[in-house]
Order: sequence, then C-alpha cells, then structure tokens
Amino acid sequence: MKTHAKVVVIGGGVVGASVLYHLTKAGWKDVLLIERAELTSGSTWHAAGGMHTVNGDPNVAKLQQYTIQLYKEIEEISGQSCGVHITGGIMLAGTRERLDWLKMAKARGRYLGMELEMLSVDEAAKLFPLMDKKHFLGAMYDPIEGHVDPYGVTHAYAKSAQIGGAEIVRHTRVTDLTPRSDGSWDVITDHGNVHAEHVVNAAGLWAREVGRMVGIELPVLAMEHQYLITGDMPELVGKKEQFHAIDFEGEIYIRQERGGMLMGTYERAGVPWSEVTTPWDFGQDLLANDLERIAPSLEVGFEHFPALEAAGIKKVVNGPFTFAPDGNPLIGPVRGLNNFWVACGVMAGFSQGGGVGLALSQWMVNGDPGADIWGMDVARYGDWTTLAYTNAKVRENYSRRFSIRFPNEELPAARPLRTTPIYEKLAAAHAVFGDYCALEHPLWFAPTAAEAVDHVSFRRSNAHPHVGLECTTVRDAVGLLEISNYGKFEVRGPGAAEWLSTVMANTVPNVGRIALTPMLNERGKLIGDFTMCRIAPDHFFLVGTYAAEVFYMRWFEQHLPPTGVTVRPCAMEYVGLSVAGPKARELLQSLVREDLSTRAFPFMSFRRLSVGMVPAYVGRVSFTGELGYEMWVTTDYQRALYDALTTAGASLGLKLFGGRALNALRIEKNFGTWAREYRPIYGPFEAGLGRFVDFKKSHFIGRAAAMEEKESGGALRLLGFRVEACDADALGDEPIWHDGKVVGWVTSGAYGHRVGASLALGYVPAAVAAAEDGFEIEIIGERHRATRLAAAAYDPTGALMRI
Ligand SMILES: Cc1cc2nc3c(=O)[nH]c(=O)nc-3n(C[C@H](O)[C@H](O)[C@H](O)COP(=O)(O)OP(=O)(O)OC[C@H]3O[C@@H](n4cnc5c(N)ncnc54)[C@H](O)[C@@H]3O)c2cc1C
Repeated sequence: MKTHAKVVVIGGGVVGASVLYHLTKAGWKDVLLIERAELTSGSTWHAAGGMHTVNGDPNVAKLQQYTIQLYKEIEEISGQSCGVHITGGIMLAGTRERLDWLKMAKARGRYLGMELEMLSVDEAAKLFPLMDKKHFLGAMYDPIEGHVDPYGVTHAYAKSAQIGGAEIVRHTRVTDLTPRSDGSWDVITDHGNVHAEHVVNAAGLWAREVGRMVGIELPVLAMEHQYLITGDMPELVGKKEQFHAIDFEGEIYIRQERGGMLMGTYERAGVPWSEVTTPWDFGQDLLANDLERIAPSLEVGFEHFPALEAAGIKKVVNGPFTFAPDGNPLIGPVRGLNNFWVACGVMAGFSQGGGVGLALSQWMVNGDPGADIWGMDVARYGDWTTLAYTNAKVRENYSRRFSIRFPNEELPAARPLRTTPIYEKLAAAHAVFGDYCALEHPLWFAPTAAEAVDHVSFRRSNAHPHVGLECTTVRDAVGLLEISNYGKFEVRGPGAAEWLSTVMANTVPNVGRIALTPMLNERGKLIGDFTMCRIAPDHFFLVGTYAAEVFYMRWFEQHLPPTGVTVRPCAMEYVGLSVAGPKARELLQSLVREDLSTRAFPFMSFRRLSVGMVPAYVGRVSFTGELGYEMWVTTDYQRALYDALTTAGASLGLKLFGGRALNALRIEKNFGTWAREYRPIYGPFEAGLGRFVDFKKSHFIGRAAAMEEKESGGALRLLGFRVEACDADALGDEPIWHDGKVVGWVTSGAYGHRVGASLALGYVPAAVAAAEDGFEIEIIGERHRATRLAAAAYDPTGALMRI
C-alpha cells in the first residue's frame, strides 16, 4: 500500500467504488480505496439491485437518471458487465389518493424529461399479467426501471477507477484517523499508515464508526430488510422478462429473478440492526430470516399476485442497510473538519450511487458539487440528530417507504422534541404544530381542541377556512406569529462589516438599519438569503433559514479571515415573535416608549427596545406584505413578551397565525424562500433578487458571475401566476405549460386568501416569460389556466408595509 495519496476513500461498496471512479474521471489520479474485506462486503453484495428514476426530490431524481445512464459507460471502460436489465416498471395504485400521487409524480417527471405514462387497470394487467386486477385502480409506467448485478456494478466502477489510475487495497481496515495541522490526515490501518490530503467516509454499514474516529455522530442507522425469491413459475416460461412492480398498498416491490419472482417489503414493524455499533466481524453475512415479521405484507402480496403463492418460497434474504432520518444520502464536507468528506446513508445505491459519486467528486475537485444536492447535503442536519432521534426517525421512514406523504402531513416520530417557552400557551390556543428541525412550530390554529387536527389531503383541507381567517385578520387588523424557527447568527468584530460585504451580495446596512441580501457562490448562484441587521458598527444580527444553519456555518467558516471577525449561530438563544397587520404599530406602540411612527422608525429599521418589560431587538420588516415588526428576545423573556402582546392586542382584534398563513401571505407578495424559490440552481436575476445585488461594491463572492447573468439576463425567470384552480392549489414541483408544452416548474403555491385566488410561483425560460397568456399549471393530473402576474398579487407597490 502506498504511504501517501491525495484522497483515501474508506469503503469498497458500490458508493465508495463510484466515488473512486468519479475522482479519476474528474482528473485526480492519486486516489486510494481501502476496503476492510472484499469489495461489496457491506450492504452491497446482497442487494436486490433494483433501480428506478422516480424520487420525491426532483434534484435527486436527476442524479438517479444519471446513475442509470452511467452503467453503459463503466461497462465499456472496464469490460465488466453490470448485469443491466432494463425491464420497465409499473407502480400500482390501489386507492384514489395513490392514483393522485402517481399523477403528480408523472407531472413532475415531465419537466425532468421522464417518459412516465398513466395506465388503466386493464392496460397495466396486459403489461403485468401476474397482478389480480380487482385490487387496483390504475398504474403508472416508467420505461427506465430495472435491475443490475450489485457485484458487477461495484467491480465495473472499481476496474474503471483502476484504469483511470486509482489504487485499491483489500483486506485492510482503517482503524483510526488523525488530523494534521495542515488539514491533511493520517489514515491508520491494520496494515500500515497512509498520509492523505482528503478522506472520504464511504463506509456504509460502518459509516458511524468511521465518523466516530473523527468525533462526529452521523445520523445513520441500518435496518433489517428482507426479500424472498419464489420457485420457478410456469407463467414466466417463454415470456419476455417481467416488469418491476411496486404495489404501494401491499408495501412490496417485485421483479423477475431468473425463473421465479423476487418480492421485497418495507414492513411497518421494521427492525433496526446494530443500533449503537456495527460489529467489525460482520462480513458477507446474512441475518436470520423473520418471515413472521413480514407476514402481513406477504399475505397482501400473495393476494394481489396469486401466482407467486403457488410458486412457493425458494430463498429468503435478510440483510441490513443504512438510512438517514429522511431516507436521502448524506454527502459533502463535514463542517468543522478539514478535508473530511462523507458519502454514506445511501439506501438506494444502484439508483443513486453514480449521482453521489459524481456530486462528491465535483465538490472535492472543483469546490462545488455542480448540481443542486441540498436534499443530500450532510449539512441539512444539526445537533438534534442524536442516536435516539435518528433511531426513531429512521424506523418511521422505513415503515413509511411506500406510504403517501401528503403535503399537509406532519409525521409523529420523535415529537415533541424541541419546544419554545410558549409551546404550551400555543397548544392551549389549539395550535396544530409542525416539525421543523425537530422544533415544534405552529402551522395554524383551530377554533376548538377537537378541530386541531389536519385531515391529510392533496386538496384544500379542513385547515383552509381557518388559515383564511388568519390571513384576513392580518390584512384587516393584526396577527401574531411565532418566528423562533428562523436561523440566527451573530457576527462581531472590527472586520465584520468588511467580511459581510464580501460574503453577501448586497450593501452592508448602516447602524440601526436592515438590508435584505442574497448570498452567492462563486458561480453566482443563490446559496442563501438573509436579513442583515446592524446593531453597532462591529456587531450584526443575521436572520436566515434555520434548516441551513450548518450549511451556512460551513460556508462562513471557509471564508472567515484568520482574525477580526467571529460568527456564531444563535438560533435557539434568540426566539422570536412577529406582529403584522394595519394595527401592528398601534399594538406595539402601546408597549414601547419610543416613537414608532414611520418618520422615527421607518421600514427596515432595527433597534434595541423594551417591549413592556422585555428587552428585545425589534426590526421593522415584513414577510407578510403588511406593516410588521419582528422581535427577538432571549428565551427567558419569550413568555412575558407573548403575554404582553396578546393582552395588549385583545382589544385590537389580534389573532394568532401560523406557518400556513405566512406561506400564503408571502406568495401573494411574490416573496421567495430558501429551498423553494432560492436554490443553488438559480441566479439572483433569475430569482427576481437583482435589486439586492450591489455592483457598486468592487468585490463580493460571485460578483463576476452575477454580472454576467445581469448582462445576459439569465436563462430562467421566476414568475407569479393566478391559477384557475378548483379544490386543490399548486404546492410545488408541478409542471408549467405554455402553448401546449411543458416549459417550467412550480416552486410554491397556495390559496391567496387576501386576494381570493389560487396562486403559484415558478420558473420558466426567459424566452417565454414575457408571454401574455397561454400558461397552464398541472395540478393532480389536470391542467388549469394560469395568468402570469405582472407584479405581486397583493399590494404590488409595497405601500402597505411602508405605511
Ligand atoms: C436486502 C437488501 C436489498 C437491497 N435492495 C436494493 C435494491 O434493490 N436497490 C438498491 O439500490 N439498493 C438496495 N439495497 C441497498 C444497497 O445495498 C445500498 O444502498 C448500498 O449497498 C450501499 O452501499 P455503500 O457502499 O454505501 O455501503 P456498503 O455496501 O455497506 O459498503 C461499505 C464498505 O466499506 C467497508 N468498510 C467499512 N468500514 C471500513 C473501514 N474502517 N476500513 C475499510 N473498509 C471499511 C465495508 O467492508 C464495506 O465493503 C438493498 C440492501 C439490502 C440489505
């Protein structure tokens, strides 16, 4: 084994092998993969090898498409067969809701270029005669589904990497990792040490153990997973290979395996494996079968596909594989560690392994993953992902693998975990809570305790009229919203202003003022949007997206000068309340001695004030489009602030409102939000944030690329639409049609209660953005006429927030 390498990849499963191949492809040849046993000795060897392109996150779906297309390339380079069988697949719907879900998946597939097709039951049965029609209502067909040989794929990646210059060492275990002061690593193994500039943790089932070598607890857990193979079936003799099929109601997947069928299940009563540590002596082993546990799914499976029961069970496989709490991979550099990368928690290695390898290698070689991989970024999790939290969430995710997640559905596991001091008060006011980064926050308020429950639906739900009342109260009187679930950062030091001027695209505000600002990467794409508040010449308070706290801190720390500036995340030190509506000033003025008139405290002011007895930072900003104030207080004061505001607001008609109303209110104003309208695939001019980019500054990150975008106009445009919808509004990811062609996608949608119309925001190519008409938005399989809005649907001049 060599003693120095630019990169050491730990783990020779499908993911490590893919990372290794992609590194060589990107030009890094001095790369070494260290494998404890033989290649594939973790989850990989016993996988069912199924692959598909459909994924709830369109950006992950794109990487899945890439993975499947890659097999030809690595077969050609390596001469190793991947055993690719593209059989096509059908997803069977047994309920009306599932049919709606499939229609939505098909619609999403349109703008990803996927050729998905809805089928009647008869059409489905013609393609897949093993099904018993009476259990189904319809199906969706995907031509690009199939299965591969896990051994073949892993070795094809490995051989291709070796041809590209990589080295692979087997039967060598990494036992420890020691950082050097220059950011490189000593990789300690049981066969000598290697000095590496970068280390990649692709240790699959042992990713946690490798994480612990560097002091981190990665949120991954292995679950036992079983599939069975039937005896040979006469029904298959002389026929072309059967389709892959997913039966959602049975929670099973099936495909042909030689002369029989392979049937696997994500059972409700899933069982974790090695909950705390993975034994090092676990090799190419299988776990004991437990058919009892999957009996309910098998029963449904045999009922829905009767020929399988008659064929009998020839073989059962029970093996472990890992999941993150949301089921998506964990990739990227780990905040706080130099040159330490992860590529783990990959639960669908044969659909996602290629995309993971591509994104990670691009990130390592070019400093940027080259695609929008927010849904897979290891930085999407913070320190709430304890071992027990991960355990609860992974079990839940596994048991719901084939369940529908409705847009208004909040999942119950690991809740309530994090609460703010007013949680009980909000609960007493009949709040329906949502879970955001494990923090409870109010979504909407019901009139009675009995009504405080969401009836899950793709259509307008029971919450609709109550959210409507919250919105109109904000329009006509005043509403009170808890805003603790925002990310907050304190930036201090003599170099703070200069540093912020470099990291943020907009002008740094004067003391007592607020500036909204995009944050751009070197490619001039949006990686954040912040409210930048200046407390003192050398003291700033930033408000952004809480879910991106680790992502932001990783970026900030990469760009901090050695001295003169400190950045500190303080999301849970400062919790918040916001008041909005025409009576917001009257309410706040009754509790504040200072003059709050627009002359004395204009729009975008920020000041330390006493609200009643509570010391607070108060900013005059508005995400609702109404006159509004945001108040930030240390946790110990939140109850007192809440009591003071609700008491003073009673005579003004104050009503609590929640996140659902806020979403509708901001969409009426065309205000975007992170992970929806603002993502690293959009530039600031495309996203309508051009006015917040200050080119008078000679330097800020992304300036040159942003200038190019300004001059060219960018490829896309974010538009607002009024949709002629009936009982369901756009939610996000629906296709936008123009003149009979899919041209774009919706990023957010909601019913705008202040304007009495269904609304959507979405991106279309710049070339069609100016079209007066001809737009349609597809909602649950039906196209609805959509009118492009020349300006925000509500108060287009923005006069109300400046009153
Ligand atoms: C029963 C079953 C069915 C499945 N079916 C499918 C399917 O149909 N489709 C699909 O896409 N996925 C399927 N999967 C999941 C798939 O197996 C995983 O997504 C994939 O194998 C993950 O690969 P990996 O490289 O991340 O991890 P692993 O395969 O676990 O590889 C990690 C490797 O790292 C090595 N290693 C760990 N620690 C060290 C160390 N310290 N030093 C050196 N080497 C180390 C291990 O020996 C191992 O070889 C299935 C899994 C199971 C169990």
